[in-house]
Order: sequence, then structure tokens, then C-alpha cells
Amino acid sequence: MKEKIHPAYQEVTVHCSCGNSWKTGSTMKELRLEICSECHPFFTGKAKLIDTAGRVERFQKRYAAAGGAPAGKAAKAKPAPAPNA
Ligand SMILES: [Zn+2]
Repeated sequence: MKEKIHPAYQEVTVHCSCGNSWKTGSTMKELRLEICSECHPFFTGKAKLIDTAGRVERFQKRYAAAGGAPAGKAAKAKPAPAPNA
């Protein structure tokens, strides 16, 4: 390797926002993550809904009111008159 052009590779501690931490090798001094394999829904199998001002709740209420069917204005609208009737 050419000298003085490569960053120093060292053992660093990785910190995730979920509280998980482990050691790995990196040229960074410290690694901070928002998500890791311990907390990502893909690995945990749990759905993680980030609810902004009750939007999820509101949708679920509306969804239940519609009989659980993905119906909206289209279902309430009058059926189109039959052609040539
Ligand atoms: Zn995590």
C-alpha cells in the first residue's frame, strides 16, 4: 500500500438508536446508526408504524367504517346509467 494516502483502519464501536451496539472495523472513529439488524422490521418481523398526528389511526377508522373493503367515494357513487336504456 502506498504510504500516507490511506485512512487508518481501526476497531470501532457501532451504536444504534435502538440501544444496540457492537464492534466492527472502520476508518471512521465511531459509527452511529438509526436502524440495525436488531431493530429493522425486516429482521424482527414486526411492523413499525411511525404515526404522524394520528394519521394511521384515522385511516384505520375510515377503513373499518367502509366495511374493511378498499372502497371510498367510488362505492358510494351512483351506478352509471346503462347505455341505450
Ligand atoms: Zn437498532
